[in-house]
Amino acid sequence: MLAAEPRPLRFRDARLLPVWDTVRAGRRLSREDGMLLFETEDLHGLGRLADFAKSRLHGERVFFVLNRYVNPTNICVLSCSFCDFARKKGEAGAFENSIEDVLEMIKPGTREAHIVGGHHPDWPFEYYERLIGAIHAARPETQIKAFTAAEIDYLWRRWKIEPREALTRLKKAGLHSMPGGGAEIFSKRLQKALHYTGKADTDRWLEIHGIAHSLGIKTNATMLYGHIETMAERVEHLVRLREQQDKSGGFLTFIPLAYQVGTTKLVPRQTPPTDDLRTIAASRLLLDNFPHIEAYWVMIGEETASVALNFGASDVNGTLEDEKIAHMAQAESPPGLAQEQILRMIRDAGKVAVERDALYNVVKVWY
Ligand code: SF4
Repeated sequence: MLAAEPRPLRFRDARLLPVWDTVRAGRRLSREDGMLLFETEDLHGLGRLADFAKSRLHGERVFFVLNRYVNPTNICVLSCSFCDFARKKGEAGAFENSIEDVLEMIKPGTREAHIVGGHHPDWPFEYYERLIGAIHAARPETQIKAFTAAEIDYLWRRWKIEPREALTRLKKAGLHSMPGGGAEIFSKRLQKALHYTGKADTDRWLEIHGIAHSLGIKTNATMLYGHIETMAERVEHLVRLREQQDKSGGFLTFIPLAYQVGTTKLVPRQTPPTDDLRTIAASRLLLDNFPHIEAYWVMIGEETASVALNFGASDVNGTLEDEKIAHMAQAESPPGLAQEQILRMIRDAGKVAVERDALYNVVKVWY
């Protein structure tokens, strides 16, 4: 049975009681409620609230996918302050993969290819179109999730390809869905402070996702947290996503991305696991119109990701095989996990693992 019966919950922080009443009644939480979720010291109470909201949607099920991460290039015209992945042309560590290289990486039977990269100064739009077409032809069984809204916006800045045209052509070539990166934090203050003024701002990022949704392309959304943002900026980010989902309805998953200190060192150390759990729980409660909240094990570690499955997360992403963006920022997690490790993470949390495809069609339930 999926619908969880409301049961009495106890809270150390009595301020969570009215929030519980609102959640239990299926009503929407306000910005003020959101601030409370990020401020309360009652982490266990917050987790119970989020687990209730998650269980009402998905019961004990937690989703994962057999996927492969691919970065065609890390050469990028921008220099975002939090990024350890990008390189300039000719710089040590810069790489450019040909279409043949990318095809080599995606083994037969891969369920999902997740493709994102730097804003390359010279690669024309047609390269990306050919790349998607070639993967689709060679691996018809693989669903292609490619190019953040920031990359789609860059193709307009660089080559004047309007997002609607770009996405229409990419869909025709074989694109199935879009990842949620490039959102960072929806804040003009942080855009300036962290030097990402050269990429899609809040309105543009949301507009491009709205266009994708109108074309029948499902997308994800992210938020980069744990650096110099305020809790109010986190809440505002989540509320803006919720408003966009009300309008266009095509978001599948929200993925909070924990900032990796690496060599960029915006803060002395990575935000603690309690903050990861709080952020996942608050996201589950505020994003009442998002089907899934993800515990991205790459950035928070396998153990915290497993605990997060009792704090509102209903997805752990997948096997990835060779994650680079977080690992070039010295993430301590492995670059990929075997299916058995993913299953263990889910079972350790007492949940039922469900293998999915990129669009959340169920492939197999692992009882
Ligand atoms: S975050 Fe993306 S856009 Fe910014 S420097 Fe890194 S690769 Fe380039």
